[in-house]
Amino acid sequence: MTHVQSSALGYPRIGEKREWKKSLERFWKGNQTEEVLRTELKELRLKNLQKQKDLGLDWIPVGDFSYYDHVLDTAVMFGLIPERFKQKDQSLLQTYFDIARGNETAVASEMTKWFNTNYHYIVPEIDTEPKLLENRPLYYFNEAKDELGIIGKPVLLGPITFLKLAKGYEDYDAFLDHLVPLYIDVLKELAEAGAEWVQIDEPILCTTLEDKELAYFEKVYKKITREVPDLKLLLQTYFESIDYYEQVISLPVEGIGIDFIYDEGNHINALEKHGFPEGKTLAAGIIDGRNVWKNDLNHSLETIDTLRKHIKDEQLILQPSCSLLHVPVTTETEEKLAPELKNALAFADQKIEEVALLKKGVNEGREAIASAIDKQQSTWKQFKQVTGRTNPIVQEELSAWSGKQPSRALPFAERQKLQEETFQLPLLPTTTIGSLPQTTDIRKARASFRKGEWTPEKYEAFIEERTAAWIHHQEALGLDVLVHGEFERNDMVEYFGEKLDGFTFTQFAWVQSYGSRCVKPPIIYGDVAWKAPMTIKESAFAQSLTNKPVKGMLTGPVTILNWSFVRNDIEPAEVTTQIALALKKELSALEENGIRMLQVDEPALREGLPLKKEKQQSYLDDAVYAFKLATSGVKNDTQVHTHMCYSEFGEIIDTIDQLDADVISIEAARSHGELIADFETFGYDKEIGLGVYDIHSPRIPSILEMEQSITRALKVLKARQFWVNPDCGLKTRTKEEVLPALNHMVEAAKNVRAKQ
Ligand code: GLN
Ligand code: ZN
Repeated sequence: MTHVQSSALGYPRIGEKREWKKSLERFWKGNQTEEVLRTELKELRLKNLQKQKDLGLDWIPVGDFSYYDHVLDTAVMFGLIPERFKQKDQSLLQTYFDIARGNETAVASEMTKWFNTNYHYIVPEIDTEPKLLENRPLYYFNEAKDELGIIGKPVLLGPITFLKLAKGYEDYDAFLDHLVPLYIDVLKELAEAGAEWVQIDEPILCTTLEDKELAYFEKVYKKITREVPDLKLLLQTYFESIDYYEQVISLPVEGIGIDFIYDEGNHINALEKHGFPEGKTLAAGIIDGRNVWKNDLNHSLETIDTLRKHIKDEQLILQPSCSLLHVPVTTETEEKLAPELKNALAFADQKIEEVALLKKGVNEGREAIASAIDKQQSTWKQFKQVTGRTNPIVQEELSAWSGKQPSRALPFAERQKLQEETFQLPLLPTTTIGSLPQTTDIRKARASFRKGEWTPEKYEAFIEERTAAWIHHQEALGLDVLVHGEFERNDMVEYFGEKLDGFTFTQFAWVQSYGSRCVKPPIIYGDVAWKAPMTIKESAFAQSLTNKPVKGMLTGPVTILNWSFVRNDIEPAEVTTQIALALKKELSALEENGIRMLQVDEPALREGLPLKKEKQQSYLDDAVYAFKLATSGVKNDTQVHTHMCYSEFGEIIDTIDQLDADVISIEAARSHGELIADFETFGYDKEIGLGVYDIHSPRIPSILEMEQSITRALKVLKARQFWVNPDCGLKTRTKEEVLPALNHMVEAAKNVRAKQ
């Protein structure tokens, strides 16, 4: 072939209507057998492959499909099953799900964010020697070949990235020495089965690496290519630029996959400066694999022209910048979007079409795609004129704040005294993170309301009835600080987006977040503005029912940004500031309505952290600015809470301190308390709640277990500083699970309190 080719790095697993999720959940609930699950998912998988073929891709990824998560797939394939899951006599698939979800006797493995995305992977725990249990990529390769006649491009997570994401090994070198031969076995079998290209993902190459780590690449890939000479390895990077362009392009592999979208021009510069090795293939990410907007085809063609100055056509593969796992499946099923907006969007299928179109433009000449380009340009023109793109009032407020630093009136130590007097809380106060069980009847009620079958009055009365019941439960449990339960919220970002200007919503634009859990991010297409109170009615109602403080719950500016698909015509930091200004109005409205504890959740702050060290500080500064802009206008004895749900705090603890929130709650149970040490080392003086039980698993921990985790925290934190709460996400559990668990938690707090 003397033409450029097209490919993708991965495709959404979930299906156009989340068939994947539904099938998995039926199985977990015990409503369907493993065999039926396998059959249903196979059908979906093959449909996805066929679709990619029909859309015109030359190299279709296989083995990117997963029953839960590709990092867990890799661990299980190499037999890295933590000891505590080995006891049972059951299928490997069941054990695989146990590691991800926990079972009656064992807590699930930790889960954390995949680089700077909102996808979560299961952290591999290494407590045994690796051994090859199954060759998954081979299975998927053969399936595509046999069932559809597709010679796919198997996708594997590379050994160096895999190990970097794992925990528990003592001797990195020794472990790598054990692991690499197993990769070689997998690849040999793929070569024998007729695979031509294999994509090995090493996104770790886009982070800041040590020299030693870089040296591993040379060593490992030399060994692999020597042992498996007949297979073409495509070493794939994504999400940012590679700092070590020269070293990476000279690694001993046939092809290198490079992102030309999230590289800030670095890769083009590097290419112009250092060229690209003759004879090697470049898989160039030229379509944004993470946003939802149509691509500027003219701009892409220019980039491709530059690439072609350095690389022969037959050695050029065009593709999206990363796996399409991070975008929804197709815009085609959207029936309610304004046409100007819908036409400006591109989800996975449309992105593949764009890749195919660009390939055509290169191979057959630009005229061949001229009409498609014209059409797209007029689409953009129409989109720019959509009402709400620019809001003069927002623009004015932004300039009024420019150059000013928001800050609370008094420093924390003084606020703390005032708050102590106002709230009179006991030592080790107990609370929850906000949401309470969103049972099927609540979801049904919301659906009926949305369809117009229920009147607003009926729906509101239903929500109030549920809120009242749970205020009662919380009082009966003896919790010190209550929540209204967030029953009115479908999702913590969508809920706010629907009430703010500048957002739009889709019907089916879901993306996988973790396991079967999918999110449907709103799309920010215009200036964000506050229109009317968003949370007052529910919060004030809940507060009217009790003398205990009820926290007002808001989603923070950075999280709203990171969990939305964001316009790309202005800087993201400017959008964050717009959101912060809108939230600021909501916070004062809450305060005026008698809500004196305000929780602004920022669970997504950490995940948006740029992969490169040198870019992190400015992102964090913007985050602090936005949080303070939103929260610092409140009274001194109003208590500002924040919440974040992850475990790696070491590098951002400074930022957390700068947010100046009076109380932070953190999800800790799942990371087995490792992060307490970070706070101790830092000398953090504000109040902290650490999740004392993992709500991701249906298991109910005993009083003793929670007492131990409180006591462990108190070894390093002062009792005065410490709050007792579960991890976040109670909305995903049932009342039957939550009530006894919270009861144990409150009892545990009481027991420890008595000993102080
Ligand atoms: N208040 C939210 C809840 O409890 C926080 C969710 C989150 O941090 N992801 O659901
Ligand atoms: Zn959380």
